[in-house]
Amino acid sequence: MATQEKYQPTEKAQAFLDKVENAKYKREIVMGLKRFIDNKVPEEMQGFYTEDELKELIDLKNTTHDVEARMPVKITNHYYQIAKNSEAVRTLVKASPKETFDLEGAADPGKQMTYSPLEGLIHKYELGLIYVTNTCSAHCRFCYREELIAKKEILREDGTVASKGLAKLPELVEYIKEHNKIVAENGGRHPETNREKLREILMSGGDPMVLSNKNLAEWFSALADAGIDSIRLGTKELAFYPDRFDQTFFNMMDDWHAAYPEVQFRLMVHFNHPDEFLQKDENGNYIENPEGGLVWIESTKRAVKELADRNYITIENQAPFIKGVNHNPDAIRILQRELKRNRINNHYFFCGRDIIGHKAFNLTIEDAWNLLNDSQKGLSGVEASARLSITHYLGKTEVVAVTNEPMKGVPGTENGVVIFKLLRGAADASNKGQVAIVGRNPEAIWFSGYEDRVIYDEAGLFTETMKSTSEVEQETDNATV
Ligand code: SF4
Repeated sequence: MATQEKYQPTEKAQAFLDKVENAKYKREIVMGLKRFIDNKVPEEMQGFYTEDELKELIDLKNTTHDVEARMPVKITNHYYQIAKNSEAVRTLVKASPKETFDLEGAADPGKQMTYSPLEGLIHKYELGLIYVTNTCSAHCRFCYREELIAKKEILREDGTVASKGLAKLPELVEYIKEHNKIVAENGGRHPETNREKLREILMSGGDPMVLSNKNLAEWFSALADAGIDSIRLGTKELAFYPDRFDQTFFNMMDDWHAAYPEVQFRLMVHFNHPDEFLQKDENGNYIENPEGGLVWIESTKRAVKELADRNYITIENQAPFIKGVNHNPDAIRILQRELKRNRINNHYFFCGRDIIGHKAFNLTIEDAWNLLNDSQKGLSGVEASARLSITHYLGKTEVVAVTNEPMKGVPGTENGVVIFKLLRGAADASNKGQVAIVGRNPEAIWFSGYEDRVIYDEAGLFTETMKSTSEVEQETDNATV
């Protein structure tokens, strides 16, 4: 495909871009363990890692168990202030030797190249995912994009080894236009892949909110001009640095909406734990707001209100369940209730993936289902809208139920069953809605843990095409950002 050197905005886009202002942000980021080791962090942060913790981490440096080779350490001052008073948040953001005790797992859990017609684009459904940056304001230790963020070299489909690249605007716009033209000429389906029009793009990374307003504006206008109906942006910035959502950002968004009023904007946010947005009193308890609900961290509350007040923006939370971070039904219940009260929809919770080091982070599938189910006891239907998802290479799959009683006359169900349902399928989604039923295995963290106890598999999750844990397909609207 012939591509332009540099993307040329349309006249309409240029008129919008001319109005966009950049701003400077004080994230006060500490990057790298070395800053803690050399005591070159602000005074109040100096005890964040104890001497013993640092010693253990230093001993691993330059060995195969080096934690920063797996995922670089990074934290904003805002997130540090929360972490000081939250064990869950400390576990999320502090490096630990546990991460590399057991290095089993996939180097490239996303298997990006399988559905990647262009560098930095995954095109599997009517939704495409693009990588626009390879960093975030802080780094979650459990991140499933660790190969992108740590810039690891991965084995590609053509046998070459290279790190993952980012999407390039001119190439992407040409690809979208070309794909959609072929689809339109062929009655609504691509003749080779059977995919529909590419109508939605998820901007991901890394966290796109680390980009400047001008840079974001260029992406938004170019995608709208290419015929995209809906732009999603995955971000954890409301937790890491809510002041990024400042007036210059909202001015840009409002001007973009004025120029492209029919294009939807879906902000996919990522809160793992209510400690990331709620204030606590001196005893560590959340504070009742006499006017209703609980008291939020002011800057987060302001940013969420500004976002939710705009009717062209919807906000959806999706987050993985992580050992030591949010394996707590009470916390997850409060999270769902407070998010919904503040106009953030509860979209998905995710089972972990088999990334390198996953054993330090992943709950079992059955524990994850019990966690969500327990957390939703006492929630209203609108608050309890989130589903538990696990990504199969065939498509996004829901863990629908875990039962405790045997099914009379059905061998293999003595301890109860787990029911999976395919929520989405690649291409024409012909298998959407199909289910698989397996006998329980309380130790299973992945589909492979059920391969020897399949009872019914209409969805084909466990047929001979069952892939090994390293061949899990990238979900295109995933939790990580
Ligand atoms: S999980 Fe998301 S927010 Fe956290 S480091 Fe990874 S990409 Fe960034």
